[in-house]
Amino acid sequence: MITKDLLKSKHFCVLPFIHSCIWTDGRILPCCINQDYVLGNAKTNSLTDVYSNKNIKLVELRKEMLNGPELPPSCYRCSTPEENYADNSYRHYVNRDFGYLIDSLDIHIDGTVTENKVSTWDVRFSNLCNLKCRTCDNINSSKIAEEEKKHIDQKITVLKEAFDDKEEFFNFFRSNIDNIQEIYFCGGEPLLLEEHYAMLDLLVEYKKFHVILRYNTNCTKLKFKDKDVVNNYWSKFEKVHLGLSLDAGWEQLYYIRHGANWDTVLENLKHIKNRCPDVKMQLTPTISILNAFHVKKLQLFLIDENLLDINAVYYNILTYPNYYSLTALPADLKEQVKDHWMDFKLEAKAKGSNHHLESEIDKVIKYMYTEDQTHVLEKFQEETKFRDEIRSESFSTIFPELITLYEK
Ligand code: SF4
Repeated sequence: MITKDLLKSKHFCVLPFIHSCIWTDGRILPCCINQDYVLGNAKTNSLTDVYSNKNIKLVELRKEMLNGPELPPSCYRCSTPEENYADNSYRHYVNRDFGYLIDSLDIHIDGTVTENKVSTWDVRFSNLCNLKCRTCDNINSSKIAEEEKKHIDQKITVLKEAFDDKEEFFNFFRSNIDNIQEIYFCGGEPLLLEEHYAMLDLLVEYKKFHVILRYNTNCTKLKFKDKDVVNNYWSKFEKVHLGLSLDAGWEQLYYIRHGANWDTVLENLKHIKNRCPDVKMQLTPTISILNAFHVKKLQLFLIDENLLDINAVYYNILTYPNYYSLTALPADLKEQVKDHWMDFKLEAKAKGSNHHLESEIDKVIKYMYTEDQTHVLEKFQEETKFRDEIRSESFSTIFPELITLYEK
């Protein structure tokens, strides 16, 4: 009874049937954007049990996905954009890319699967990161945790790790190695993680060079100990997709992603392009108040430098923390942001953009008008001033176009 018609429905997502997502605090989730529906914990549950018909939570989620009529409530980060402001949600992309895998599964209407297989992985081994981005938090960045331990709460744990015992993970991973289609490496910063290289070493050992390596990286480090990720690994794999976590360039990059050096990032991007021209690079900025006027300059620059295809972009719309969300902007600034992105759309069109980029730009504008959250601007000022002080930075110097926000 399971057919590809499911992929066209409003209520089906392939991820709960094929995917493993493990967060830095050990929570096992349906995917990286569903943080509310916890399938288990890597510190206390065996992965074999979590991905089995014995796991009632998993079976129930799958059952809802199969029977509808709507997506489960915990999948609101897909259903909200689908209903309100985006042509495509994360669900649409994963169904497009991995929907074919349901044909290889024997799925039953009660949510059970004859043989559970994990084909796509997203394991956040730890929050180890070399940056402290303004829009990030201590769960995902050890640098922020370090800062907050010093200035806010001494009890904060700096390094948060998903597993107490990684051996069980690697045994499970190895036992699934023939099923793997894609690994998504995300941070902390994945290129700093020992475990990222251990997973790649296993893929190399088993000659699984067809596995898609997908990253979100801050592009600041291409070498780790004796490993050189470009020469030792990416050059060997058939498909490497890099999501460039760059919210802006130049001084705005230094500010938004504290610790990042624009010159180093640029040098690294050129090195990747020269050494592995087939590596696909996609710009994946987090769109917030901070970079509302700066993505265009970065994107056009990377295109002109032949580092990026004009349509290779995915805008991560920041919804949390809400005081950095575009919805918090006052009406006059929203109008200016809208005009700026509309101009960008025209410029991009003149350079040959397609429907994808246009709909990504529309997504940003539509999202901004979904809500009026100006009531959180006080929190915006408080938080920005606090971080400016402890980092010796100056918001008003870096973002003069937003000065009224700071003074209101
Ligand atoms: S529908 Fe969206 S939120 Fe839910 S599991 Fe799929 S990708 Fe994740």
